[in-house]
Amino acid sequence: MHCFDCVLESRASTVPASPAVAAAVCARCGAGICGRHAHVTSDPLPGPPISSTPMPEARRLTCELCYEAERAAAGRA
Ligand SMILES: [Zn+2]
Ligand SMILES: [Zn+2]
Repeated sequence: MHCFDCVLESRASTVPASPAVAAAVCARCGAGICGRHAHVTSDPLPGPPISSTPMPEARRLTCELCYEAERAAAGRA
């Protein structure tokens, strides 16, 4: 599988670049993403309401588009 964002870039570009091999999968849209296009964010899992020990955060990988969309949605909230 190739990086979907790389494919879009190479389509838009007049100089076609070969898309990178996907290293991850977007947690939201399921597109393959390379290391350059993957956005690593933390995904806090629901823990006990009162906890003295800090909860470890899970990892979440999103593509360029979903990252921007989620950031915009979070900004509106
Ligand atoms: Zn890419
Ligand atoms: Zn996505």
